[in-house]
Amino acid sequence: MPTSARSEPFVWDEIETGPRDRLRELQLERLRQTVERTLRSQPPLAARLSEAGITDATEISSLDDLARLPFSRKSDLRDNYPFDLLAVPREQLVRVHASSGSHGKPTVVGYTRADLDAWTEVMARSMTMAGVRPGMVLHNANGYGLFTGGLGFHHGGERIGATVIPVSGGFTARQAMLLADLGGQALCATPSYALVIAQAIRDAGLDPDDLDLEIGLFGGEPWTDEMRTELDRELGIRAVSFYGLSEMCGPGVAAECRDARDGLHIQEDHFLAEVIDPESGEPVPEGADGELVFTTLLKEAQPLIRYRTGDVGSVTTERCECGRTMARITALRGRLDDMLIIRGVNLFPSTVETLLLGVEEVAPHYRLIVERPAEMDEVSVECEPVEASIDRAALADRLETLLRDHTGIRIPVSVVEAGTIPRSEGKAVRVMDRR
Ligand SMILES: [Zn+2]
Repeated sequence: MPTSARSEPFVWDEIETGPRDRLRELQLERLRQTVERTLRSQPPLAARLSEAGITDATEISSLDDLARLPFSRKSDLRDNYPFDLLAVPREQLVRVHASSGSHGKPTVVGYTRADLDAWTEVMARSMTMAGVRPGMVLHNANGYGLFTGGLGFHHGGERIGATVIPVSGGFTARQAMLLADLGGQALCATPSYALVIAQAIRDAGLDPDDLDLEIGLFGGEPWTDEMRTELDRELGIRAVSFYGLSEMCGPGVAAECRDARDGLHIQEDHFLAEVIDPESGEPVPEGADGELVFTTLLKEAQPLIRYRTGDVGSVTTERCECGRTMARITALRGRLDDMLIIRGVNLFPSTVETLLLGVEEVAPHYRLIVERPAEMDEVSVECEPVEASIDRAALADRLETLLRDHTGIRIPVSVVEAGTIPRSEGKAVRVMDRR
């Protein structure tokens, strides 16, 4: 439970600031319980553990043994769709969420009552870290439904004692009106939708500085520090990054603290993090980029051991200036699936975003278009100027030079008229794949 003394930075409990060796002891104990649960009640994953020589949880004697355990993947959830990976009878689920599968069936996850409680707890902790206080008006523009963003922030906010406004996504003009009329102080949304809301506020003849907004809790899609700068300025807030995936619980796996905004603190007593080389599966040195892998430590309904997220980032265990000792994801580059290989060069859309939005004349609306005119993939960029008076052709030339100098690839740029690039009400589509 929260400590009663309201000191800054507000810390949920000593788990967030305690010594790391004590945390590791707790993780080991919970890892054994997870392995035990899988061996007992998830036959498809238990078979894989036995193949790897693990038939009893007591064989896990230290966290180093984690590397002996086999990975799990999204394909495991697909192959066992919808309920064959449940470790509890279906009747014990009190809720089900699903993430939109880009191909065919969605990924379904189930929650027992204890799972929902744990999720609410990590959300409340993360949101507190991000600056949400009891009594604050929390405008939740994340979609309610199978997507975990809506209900995740909703219950986290209620647990803290914030006044939650469940607006959900869409009806953007109404978002602006409700933010103004109900005095929203914290805005929850995807970063791209927050920009759309910012525009709607201006369209309604309001200035974001006249609103009560203080912080933005943004996640659900990769975004960069340059996008953060835009959001801070556009909405007059401090924008804070959230990370999660429904296979773990939803949002709340990691989040930034409002004060330092220097990496996303992982809720390590719930999720055991690793960073691996996606090709070899071997761990990378601390601080190096790799694929994020998480093991659930408390999940009842659907425990997952060494789940490969497909997200690329790096992790540090250095203490944050906020005082928390929980490890931080220091860079989230994007999804491995989104990584483009252009003429032999690996390119993350987030790299392009960083470069584009670093240029003052470029508005935070852009997209990459990927085509395959012959054998090789080609990429081009469309973006918008901040003002109609800007010479679009000259700006495009400058951006092409900038992209070539930093990526080593020639990427044609079109600076299109403001308002041309489609806006999103949820997760932004930054890459148009025309292959
Ligand atoms: Zn911090």
